[in-house]
Amino acid sequence: MHGIEEVRSVLSTPKNILITSHRNPDGDAIGSSLAMSQWLKKKGHRVMVAFPSEYPDIYQWMPGIEDVQIFDVDPEPIAAFCQHLEVSIILDYNSLARIDKLGVFLENRDLYTILIDHHLYPDPIGDFILSDTSASSTCELVFRFIEVFDRSNLTDLNIATCIYTGIITDTGSFQYSTSPALFRSVAALQEIGLDTNAIHDRIFNTMDEKNLRLLGHCLANRMEIIDDFKTGIIFLNKHDFQVYDIQRGDTEGIVNYLLKLKNVHMAVFIRQQPTIIKISFRSKGDFSVEEIAKNYFNGGGHRNAAGGYTKSSLAATLDLIKSILPQYKQQLNKPIL
Ligand code: 5GP
Ligand code: MN
Repeated sequence: MHGIEEVRSVLSTPKNILITSHRNPDGDAIGSSLAMSQWLKKKGHRVMVAFPSEYPDIYQWMPGIEDVQIFDVDPEPIAAFCQHLEVSIILDYNSLARIDKLGVFLENRDLYTILIDHHLYPDPIGDFILSDTSASSTCELVFRFIEVFDRSNLTDLNIATCIYTGIITDTGSFQYSTSPALFRSVAALQEIGLDTNAIHDRIFNTMDEKNLRLLGHCLANRMEIIDDFKTGIIFLNKHDFQVYDIQRGDTEGIVNYLLKLKNVHMAVFIRQQPTIIKISFRSKGDFSVEEIAKNYFNGGGHRNAAGGYTKSSLAATLDLIKSILPQYKQQLNKPIL
């Protein structure tokens, strides 16, 4: 692992370390941050985990989450901690634009920066960069980093639980982005004593009734299938957000239902939020939704899972998406299997 000796020397004495991850943190962002934080604390460092915005309730059970600071909620403790910051660790994102105002604490400073991420096209930020776009998740990479760094193996059950959470959320429970290396890592994690059943239940089987009804509404009333371009679209407008009392995280996973259709190769899920329209893209096969998110919606991500946003109206967003489909007709109609 290139540069690991330099990291080893930086971390050889106790440091003040800020771990950050992206806005609307998901299981991988949260899992990698909490795993890294607990490991560094065991090594004697002073660590703060800070996210730009709040995390979904379904992750409230995760070990160490009570110490997470949210910039949108209260920037003060983060600002205070950053006055004596020595090391910045960037996890599960690769451009400071993804952490908004939290980025001011990481810019123009004499900081040692570590970046660990698996998204495409990383900005060149970081003195040590572990960027592997073929990895399933940032959690997989954090575990790889810990194993290479730490022969004494300080991975305990809490750290293993956090890492496993990011792996299953970013792979759709081992459906995609898997590799022999990933399964070897998971085997090592399970040897520590993971209760995988309980973790899956906590993440995937704790829906509120209103969320399942929201899913029903999306599938029955808000889904459009465009056969010519093998594209499925679901949208939710402001009114839906009120009626279904949609909170952070409540729409997680809905986009994936579109991919269950034999004839859908690209799934698009559009949410009309108070100030922006947020869009999630998913695809099957080698069709790159990352390209669409980047070129048309200020976004990015991975080939088969990407996201972005627009500031235009819901109707204009739907029109724009439909207008770009024809140029991808051939790629979208390519057989998957
Ligand atoms: P999701 O649709 O679950 O929000 O995101 C899918 C993937 O796209 C994730 O890897 C996420 O990091 C990335 N992504 C989502 N929204 C954005 C965005 O606005 N900008 C960029 N660069 N990536 C995004
Ligand atoms: Mn990730």
